[in-house]
Amino acid sequence: MITRHELIRRYTDSCSGDPMFLEPYWMRHAEASAVVFSGWHRMSYRATNGLFQSVELERSIQRLHRAVGNAVPDGKHMVFGTGSVQLISALVYALSPDSNSGSSASVVATAPYYAAYRTGVVLFDSRENHWEGNTARWANATAGNSTKNEDIIEFVTSPNNPDAKLRKPVVGGASAIVDHAYYWPHFTHIPAPADEDVMLFTVSKLSGHASSRFGWALIKDENVAKRAKDYINQNTMGASRDTQLRMLSIIKTILANLHGKDDIFAFGQDVMTAKWRKLNAVVSRSRRISLQKIPPQYCTYFGKIREPSPAYAWMKCERVEDGDCYDMLLKAKITTRSGTWNDASSRFTRISLLKSQDDFDLLLEKLTELVDAEMDTT
Ligand code: PMP
Repeated sequence: MITRHELIRRYTDSCSGDPMFLEPYWMRHAEASAVVFSGWHRMSYRATNGLFQSVELERSIQRLHRAVGNAVPDGKHMVFGTGSVQLISALVYALSPDSNSGSSASVVATAPYYAAYRTGVVLFDSRENHWEGNTARWANATAGNSTKNEDIIEFVTSPNNPDAKLRKPVVGGASAIVDHAYYWPHFTHIPAPADEDVMLFTVSKLSGHASSRFGWALIKDENVAKRAKDYINQNTMGASRDTQLRMLSIIKTILANLHGKDDIFAFGQDVMTAKWRKLNAVVSRSRRISLQKIPPQYCTYFGKIREPSPAYAWMKCERVEDGDCYDMLLKAKITTRSGTWNDASSRFTRISLLKSQDDFDLLLEKLTELVDAEMDTT
């Protein structure tokens, strides 16, 4: 039990996207989701079918997409990765021109975007692709030069990290990698199953098992899927077989409870909606800070209009004199992630709502103090 005095001294950690809000759900399903295996089990590089990927896990993931209605797995190749962050690099490689062609793909995204797209491309610094930045800036910069849209790889995050907007590609003719990390009913309404040519998912944001480092891509084109698989095989020889076993148990547990009294999405949506409502109640009293607006929308999974429940709050500091929003909140002992990380203005900052209830309660406490102090001076 922390005392009020200790609470006041502590900084909140509202920075990382660590999905600890789902821990109570798995505590309730501790036995059904547990995986125990002996020392001799699964020692080989490969599964018994000689492959790096478990076919049974592939089938369970396909069943999950069909049951949730958030993506069309039929007619697509599935590629597993060590977290979707590994697949980000694998897909950029798979969609880039051949190393002998002499051309290099421009990789772009629309700000505010998830920074790992930029940092990954810049880190690998490869001959076949390069980071070209924000689509807005890039469109002006390339007007009149000879870059063809088939040499462009566009990252699209839907719902977007950080602002939760559902997005579509904006560069016609480019190869889009559509990252659906948050396209699950605990974070957003699901208007229709996603059916893009290259889609990316991660278990980190589906079930909360960020530690397992597991993601998958759904890819329409056979050659692109083969190149992505080649990358993974060269890089790590597939995703960990231990992890695949754990994922099978987690996804089976989710499937067994869908639409039941302990549905993970109903649980997650309740938690996240309550957080969003409380946060809005505090922030709406302020003229200094504001949040993105998200309307209630019809969700095909729940079969009704539902309230918003985003993974992140995208906060704006309204007063020019407050300057950098991250710094302003840090002075109030609230640790967030500056909008500059997302190639956006420093007047914005991202607040994670994915962490534990304790983290959220502390955040709310600090924000209430900030807003109360503003009220005292007006
Ligand atoms: N894509 C997006 C949009 C994300 O927010 C994250 C994690 N924050 C990832 C991919 C990476 O997820 P992981 O590597 O844990 O699978």
